[in-house]
Parts: sequence; structure tokens; C-alpha cells
Amino acid sequence: MKEFKYDISVIGGGIVGLAAAYKLQKKYPYLNIVVLEKENELAFHQTGRNSGVIHSGLYYKPGSYRAKNCVDGRKQLVSFVKKYSVKHDICGKIVLATNHKEKEKLSELKQRGEQNGLINLEIIGPEKIQEIEPFAKGIAALHVPESGIVDFKGVTNKLAELITEINPKSKILTSCEVLDVNEESLITTIGTINTFHSVFCAGLFSDRLSEKDKMNPDLRIIGFRGDYYDLEDHAKEKVKHLIYPVPNPEFPFLGVHFTRMTDGSIECGPNAVFTFKREGYGKTDFNLRDTLEALTFSGTWRLFINHWKFGWNEYRRAFSKRLFLKELNKMLPDLKMSDIKVGRSGVRAMALGKDGEVIDDFKIVKNKNNIHVLNAPSPAATACLSIGDEIVKQATKSFNLKKNKC
Ligand SMILES: Cc1cc2nc3c(=O)[nH]c(=O)nc-3n(C[C@H](O)[C@H](O)[C@H](O)COP(=O)(O)OP(=O)(O)OC[C@H]3O[C@@H](n4cnc5c(N)ncnc54)[C@H](O)[C@@H]3O)c2cc1C
Repeated sequence: MKEFKYDISVIGGGIVGLAAAYKLQKKYPYLNIVVLEKENELAFHQTGRNSGVIHSGLYYKPGSYRAKNCVDGRKQLVSFVKKYSVKHDICGKIVLATNHKEKEKLSELKQRGEQNGLINLEIIGPEKIQEIEPFAKGIAALHVPESGIVDFKGVTNKLAELITEINPKSKILTSCEVLDVNEESLITTIGTINTFHSVFCAGLFSDRLSEKDKMNPDLRIIGFRGDYYDLEDHAKEKVKHLIYPVPNPEFPFLGVHFTRMTDGSIECGPNAVFTFKREGYGKTDFNLRDTLEALTFSGTWRLFINHWKFGWNEYRRAFSKRLFLKELNKMLPDLKMSDIKVGRSGVRAMALGKDGEVIDDFKIVKNKNNIHVLNAPSPAATACLSIGDEIVKQATKSFNLKKNKC
């Protein structure tokens, strides 16, 4: 069995792992860092299957990590993609109210956004909505000019490139799965990695890897699949930028929305259905261990009981194009069955507490040698560089890192 030696290992080749490794490498260029990714490419799971939206920081509870890191992370991300020419567009978005109840919530949302430091938020009427999104129908909307779209996979690959540019001894190893965690080594599918410290950014498997590191996380990761439909070429003119519904504060997801992607395609979605396989992108995918772990956890059942109606409706919609379209028609009444085709899917890592409560803020924990990103839900892709700073802060202290190699 081969052996390798590195100062720090980062487990997970998603955008959070790469941002953490990049920020560590930038601050401590002498460190030999290795990123270990089990797939044969980076950003294969959540990062490469998300909506591609640069979130502004509108929705999150003021003072939460998500609010702070989203706003700071967005600013850093926009500078980064401009500097390194990664595909993006700060095209703005509208949050569309289609009835009076939703309209009332817009001012609350605007206030929250302003508390989080967003600028130029504006509540607009049907005429201005028409100007921005000619096919959208609403009685009012919140215009959010700081939102945008980006190629998150492109960002991840650029971060990887920069790491090895700073220190050619650092490595990005794909097709390398971490199987077990020992005191100062990791057992992987390609051999043993001897390492003083590790930073775990394993997304859908964050809880399992923390257990392997002898921690007892007070949460369980449950996979929630999100399916998208694509607009057919002839219907693409119906969406110019980003159109979001007014979110229901009782649910952890933003609701199905319309997104223009950086490759010019237009996606509608994602819904949110419990999945029987953490990395299951097909509607009938199943994994016994994932299912047993989810269904033997009390929090899952509490979540099901508390939100059974929402869950049931999402499930029906997952199997019915007609019902999916009905939801989309609330914002775009002119959209027809022939305008949409089945697209891709992504699975969100949703962290649940034992009481069924959705843990919606970012969660980073430490033990003696290592750091674990236990929860990095949306907008973690937007916030990745700010999360990277947080990891550097924690690593500097607990790994006792010095500016210069001594
Ligand atoms: C449908 C959907 C839509 C979203 N939309 C947005 C959006 O528009 N904007 C936004 O900011 N955020 C969005 N998000 C959230 C965002 O994508 C995630 O918060 C972010 O990608 C998390 O990144 P990550 O690196 O933690 O996880 P991931 O991208 O899942 O990366 C984790 C990596 O760890 C690897 N791994 C796991 N176990 C091991 C192991 N044992 N050994 C080696 N490697 C391992 C996995 O293979 C994976 O590549 C969305 C998410 C989803 C699913």
C-alpha cells in the first residue's frame, strides 16, 4: 500500500473544500496541502448540480453565519470571477408576489436584505416587472440588483489551479476516497495519507466522516433531491434573468424558480423530495444504508410529520410534469407543456437535528486535530470564499499555524 505525507489534507473536492484549501494555501504558501476527492472530477455533487445563482444575502436571519458569509462571500466571489474570467453575470433578480399575502411579505424581505447590507433593493409594480421580465405576471416584486449567475464548477476548477500554482508540491487527488480516519493519517482507496491535520468538507457525507473521526455529531444529513426542467429553445425568450417566488418561511427551500444559466440554458426548479440515496439523482434511486440511516433517525420522522402536506405535494409534483408546470404557471402563466423538458437533478445535504428541526446555518466544528464542515447548505457556494476565511481562522488557532515555516 502506498504512503503519502502532507501537512494538511482537505477532504472533499466541492467548492467549499477547494475554497478552504485555496485560502489556507494563500495564507500559508509553504504548507503542502492535499485535496482528496472520491469522484474522478471536482464539483461532481452539490457544487456542480446547483442552480448557479450568486445569492445576494437577502433571505438569511441577520447576524447568522449564512447572512454574514453570504454577503462577504458574494463580494469576494464577484471579485474572484472578474479577476480570473470565470463565466458570470450580475444580472439581478426579481422576487415575484402573485397575490396580496405575498405582496405584504416583500417589505419584510426588503428590510431583512437591508439589515444584511444589500443595496438598491426596490419594490416594483407590474409595469416595471413587465420591463424586466415581460412574461412574468405579478402584482409586485422585489428587485434585487446584486444577485447574479456564475459557473460554480468553473470557480472550483480555478481554485484548484491556483493552489498548485502557489505551491507545486500541493496536490489535488481525484478518484481518492477517504475510507477511515486515524489520529494522524487517513486511509484512502489509493493508500495512506500521513497528515498532521485534516479539514473535512464532505457535503452529503459530512456526518459519516465526522463519526469516523470519533465525533458524535448531533445531526444527521438527509438528502433532498431537487429536479429541474429546462426551457425548450423556442421558449427561452420567456425568461430574461432570474425569477423567484416569495419564499414560505416555514420551509427551508426557496421554492421553484427560473434561472438563466451561464451556458444560456434556462432551468426551472428545483423541487424538494426526500431521497432514498444521498447521491441519488434518479427518481427511483435507492441505497439501503442511506435509507436505514435516514429512517431510523427520529428527526426524519418528526420532519415528515410536521411537514407531511408539503412533502406529499412535492412528491406528487416530482412524478407529474403537469403539476410541476402548474407551479411554474403561478409566475409565468403563458408557459406551456411543450415549453419545458425534463432536466437534471441535484441533491441537497440537509442537516437535521433529533427533534426534526432543520439546521439551516453553517456549522463548522473542531476536535483535537481536525476541522469538520458539518453543514454547508445554500448559499455555501456563493459564500465559499468567506467560509474559507472562517476555516483559516480556526485552523490558524487550533493547528497552531505560523506565517513563516520555522
Ligand atoms: C439543487 C441545489 C441547488 C442549489 N443552488 C444553489 C445556488 O444557486 N447558489 C448557492 O450559493 N448554493 C446553492 N446550493 C448549495 C450549494 O451547491 C452547496 O451549499 C455547496 O455546493 C456545498 O459545497 P460542498 O463543497 O460542501 O459540497 P459538495 O459540492 O457536495 O462537495 C463535497 C465533496 O466531497 C466528496 N466526498 C464525500 N465523501 C468523500 C470521501 N469519503 N472521500 C473523498 N471525497 C468525498 C464528494 O464526492 C463531493 O465532491 C444548491 C444546492 C443544490 C443541491
